[in-house]
Amino acid sequence: MLQDDMRSLYQEVIFDHNRNPRNFHVMEDANRVIDGYNPLCGDRLTLYLKIDDNDIISDASFQGEGCAISTASVSLMTDLIKGKTVDEADQLFKQFHQITTTHDEDIQLETLGKLAVLAGVRDYPSRVKCATLAWHTLNAAIKNETTTVTTE
Ligand code: ZN
Repeated sequence: MLQDDMRSLYQEVIFDHNRNPRNFHVMEDANRVIDGYNPLCGDRLTLYLKIDDNDIISDASFQGEGCAISTASVSLMTDLIKGKTVDEADQLFKQFHQITTTHDEDIQLETLGKLAVLAGVRDYPSRVKCATLAWHTLNAAIKNETTTVTTE
């Protein structure tokens, strides 16, 4: 994809998800609840997951307040991980981590779908933590940690 196309798609997706976040609600019957905080920007979120007996993430939602990038990232992520196994979500976490920290074009952007658009943050190093907060929080939730995740 051309760099310019990627950039306008990046802006479009972030605008859309920030204005109309998906899965933005408290989940009463979640079996994993964890807070994430990015002190650099002030982004805060609470991630709710329902993981069933077969290790499938049957539902995901969030609450919180953050900048457009952090909100778009967690909105996209909750959409993406629903129906995935814990292992698949862990793989996505690793891929996402890679696309936001390297310029390795071999990474399968298709697997990440719209989320790949967020790879655009790697051009703005100060915003990378806004985009990765959701994913670090997910990683901790999968490991069943309960203390607040911070990007520092
Ligand atoms: Zn932020």
